[in-house]
Amino acid sequence: MSGTVGRFAPSPSGRLHLGNLACSLLAWLSAKHQGGKIVLRIEDLDAERCPRKYADQLEEDLSWLGLVWDEGGSHGGPHGPYYQSECAPVYEEAYAKLAAQGLVYPCFCSRSQLHAASAPHTSDGNVIYPGTCRDLTPEEIAEKRKHKAPAYRVRVPDENVRFVDGCMGPHTENLLRDCGDFYLRRADGVFAYQLAVVVDDARMGVTEVVRGADLLSSTARQLYLYRLLGLKAPRFAHCPLLLAPDGRRLSKRDGDQSLENLRAKYTAEEIVGRLAYVYGLQPEPAPRTPESLITDFSWENVPKEDICLPENLF
Ligand code: GLU
Repeated sequence: MSGTVGRFAPSPSGRLHLGNLACSLLAWLSAKHQGGKIVLRIEDLDAERCPRKYADQLEEDLSWLGLVWDEGGSHGGPHGPYYQSECAPVYEEAYAKLAAQGLVYPCFCSRSQLHAASAPHTSDGNVIYPGTCRDLTPEEIAEKRKHKAPAYRVRVPDENVRFVDGCMGPHTENLLRDCGDFYLRRADGVFAYQLAVVVDDARMGVTEVVRGADLLSSTARQLYLYRLLGLKAPRFAHCPLLLAPDGRRLSKRDGDQSLENLRAKYTAEEIVGRLAYVYGLQPEPAPRTPESLITDFSWENVPKEDICLPENLF
């Protein structure tokens, strides 16, 4: 087995849909093609939106499809916990390291202030924080605390982060202008995705992150955290998103493309084969097992643009 460690990192707030599934298939194929392994981490930071029954269902769906993982989820393993809802002490430690560097500050801005019509947005739809609370004095902070519990942000420098994405090629973001100071912790104490994902991928020994292109612009922020925390960053490959035949982005709300409906209509091999077809891994939509796609897998064949599902394929 090679040293490659890939991962599935689903947020179980509902049933898997085709888009999640496609990313899982590509993550699995890329790791297995290199003789590596796959870790399953359940991203249930928002424990209320992600009850355990969805995580269990997700494991059942992945197993049904033949996307067997080597470590994590309810199987456990040497790098647990594998459920983010159980990891607060681990995140706390990393957060304290960043705070000790003087880089963390409380932010009292409300959602509506941030989403003012004029606010510039990152390419993934987040507001680029204008720095309103960046330089509050201790007195101002004490006064504001009387009325509102703050969230916490990390300061970013005016600096370009460059990396070569395994699927999309070279990518650059300016931390200050394209991302802005970003959340590490919400006002209710829950740690933010950007911090959790870095801490977890590092402690689980993940060397290759494969995920949807909607997270491409998060990568610069995560590389910044890897650097601040003195952790080794993995390679990244962002796969193109699947769009419904009418061009809309697939989401968990698209019942038609949820695994519940798909399983009622198709076999696992039919679903895998059709996904492999739209992702350029085989020339026609013939049924395939995941194993049968390992040998010929190559990122070079995967399209770089969003993929519109052909009418009547699913
Ligand atoms: N949990 C995220 C999702 O399901 C993925 C995060 C990641 O892959 O970094 O969209």
